[in-house]
Amino acid sequence: MSIYQNIISTIQQSTYKLTPQRETILKILVDNVNEHLSAEELYFILKEVNPDIGLATVYRTLDIFYELKILEKITFGNGIAKYHLRQTFNNSMHHHLICTRCHNIDTISNPIFTKLIKYVNSEYGFEVQDNTIAIHGICEECKNNEDLNNEIR
Ligand SMILES: [Zn+2]
Ligand SMILES: [Zn+2]
Repeated sequence: MSIYQNIISTIQQSTYKLTPQRETILKILVDNVNEHLSAEELYFILKEVNPDIGLATVYRTLDIFYELKILEKITFGNGIAKYHLRQTFNNSMHHHLICTRCHNIDTISNPIFTKLIKYVNSEYGFEVQDNTIAIHGICEECKNNEDLNNEIR
């Protein structure tokens, strides 16, 4: 079963209806499986495909998909969120290094994080919602710019 078919059946088994709008939004998410998209970025792509779907529908659909555990959500301190398909759908696993200054997302893959999630689950009986770990900080580029500015001063 393809990722797309797999997710379609997840929606069909839920209490939510599979509307044509939701199908279109899902297709974009599947096509951009390696991207981290905000609602606005997704809306921008969507406008080319179907200009009749509004931003409010995009927000609502992303909320529903997140609730159905179809999506992973990466949140920034400023209220912005980015999404991609839950990685269990395509059997890949990366985690997020989030720069709080330029809002860049770097990805890292290391089995140590998967072990950590399993540990939290078994040791604390705590069900981890997102199967990725997000680490917030300052990226290398921003750090270098900062050093440069300090030298100039
Ligand atoms: Zn990611
Ligand atoms: Zn940065």
